[in-house]
Amino acid sequence: MKTTTLYDGRHRWIAFGRDPDKPEKIIDTNQYLIVDGKRALLMDPGGIEIFSAMLASVLRFTDIDAITDLFASHQDPDIISSLGLWDQALPHARLHAPWLWEGFLRHFGLNHIEYVAIPDEGSTLSLETAQIQFIPAHYLHASGNFHVYDPAARILMSGDVGAALEPEGAPMFVEDFEEHIPKMKMFHQRWMPSNKAKQDWIRRVRALDIDMLAPQHGRIFRGDDVKRFLDWFEALEVGTAVG
Ligand code: FE
Repeated sequence: MKTTTLYDGRHRWIAFGRDPDKPEKIIDTNQYLIVDGKRALLMDPGGIEIFSAMLASVLRFTDIDAITDLFASHQDPDIISSLGLWDQALPHARLHAPWLWEGFLRHFGLNHIEYVAIPDEGSTLSLETAQIQFIPAHYLHASGNFHVYDPAARILMSGDVGAALEPEGAPMFVEDFEEHIPKMKMFHQRWMPSNKAKQDWIRRVRALDIDMLAPQHGRIFRGDDVKRFLDWFEALEVGTAVG
């Protein structure tokens, strides 16, 4: 699995993705890890299919005992169907996930990990020095949904917002925004159901200081491309399906 360091300050952000051994016909996903001393937060750790590759990759950056916290932006299988396996690997960790999905997510098997329900208005998590914010992103696309903002790294992990459908092995960063638009358009129009929720999110996110917008599929936006994405998404009508 390919790994990319996004931030290397007092703590570290690492992106995982583009797994060449991933079975065909499952959507490619990006997983993210914050390593902060003896604490680590693993975000949207992925599906059962990639669990063993993810575990091996994550252990290149941190000890297993340091993985104290997991995060699931929402309930989808590509986000967190690996939960029952992490539950066996990390008996003392906590899962931060939307309160709305607790009764559903427990179907993946949760016997050891503690479920920390994020309330609708969001919440915060203190690691060793990093102060992490869970930002509401409801209906983008799941009805209970959060993103992760790190004010020190100025990174917003934006779940399915900013996602793109890419051919195998695509680069990790957007290089040409205009050229990237066709890969994102249908994804947002079809999977995002609410223009009102989208505008609420745009307003909330414009108030944050963001150097990188890091989605769960496709490529990461840097610098001016973050604003280009927000402008493009604001103008896009979502909740449309043909037929
Ligand atoms: Fe999803």
